[in-house]
Amino acid sequence: MNQLDLKGKHGIVTGGARGIGFAISTRLLQSGAHVCLWDRDAEALKDAQEKLSAIGPVATQTVDLTDPEAVAAAAAATKQEFGSIELLVNNAGIAGANAKLWEYTPDQWLAVVNTNLNAVFYVCRAVVPIMLEQHYGRIVNIASIAGKEGNPAASHYSAAKAAVIGLTKSLGKELAKEGILVNCITPAVIQTDILKQVAQFHIDYMLSKIPMGRFGKVDEAAAMVAWLCSDDCSFSTGSVFDLSGGRATY
Ligand code: NDP
Repeated sequence: MNQLDLKGKHGIVTGGARGIGFAISTRLLQSGAHVCLWDRDAEALKDAQEKLSAIGPVATQTVDLTDPEAVAAAAAATKQEFGSIELLVNNAGIAGANAKLWEYTPDQWLAVVNTNLNAVFYVCRAVVPIMLEQHYGRIVNIASIAGKEGNPAASHYSAAKAAVIGLTKSLGKELAKEGILVNCITPAVIQTDILKQVAQFHIDYMLSKIPMGRFGKVDEAAAMVAWLCSDDCSFSTGSVFDLSGGRATY
């Protein structure tokens, strides 16, 4: 596999302990970056660090991304450890339960919005000032095809991911002349642990919508994110990159 050149770059991958975040971290390390995994499960982080250290330098921060003070502390600690932060992948997310909108309790709704949207705000708020000092950065947000299409039985998730797309477009414009590019990807369904939270009827629905007729792969997401983190990506910002086996039509 040809690797992109990320030598000398230091990146944060939220939710990097497993799933898509683990694959992204692998790909960034293979391309020469140093990576700090941010996740809330210390045990899972330790396992991931042990596996990934064979490829390259890996740090970790145990942090609940829905706590803005904890996020600010993790950003300061990562800057202290790495010296600079060039790459940020806002990947952590939860699916939440599948139900009709009016059946959700406010707590169920807020949990999904806090993790999938507000945490992206908290992390960008803590890391963008560091990137501004450097006049350099690549930020990639993991949204979802749900944010473009609106999946039934997942209104909280669809709304939060649509908001991540909007956040990406706004922040991309705000930073367009600062050497900091902000983009997002919108994957269709990929087989990871997140699907343990998802009802089988909903997985069947999401798969049925994909013209290629298969799940996406974590490595396919990682390849797209690695490119968006690289200097080869230089004229795209505030943009949405589809990864949906043909589902996305706009
Ligand atoms: P996983 O559940 O496999 O991994 C997500 C990681 O994020 C887990 O380690 C999880 O920890 C962590 N995390 C969740 N909430 C927090 C929090 N508050 N603080 C710190 N860490 C947290 O999910 P995926 O790899 O599948 O998903 C990655 C991203 O891709 C998500 O944003 C998801 O919405 C998006 N996506 C996924 C698709 C899919 O079909 N898989 C399709 C489209 C988008 P823990 O295990 O403790 O919850």
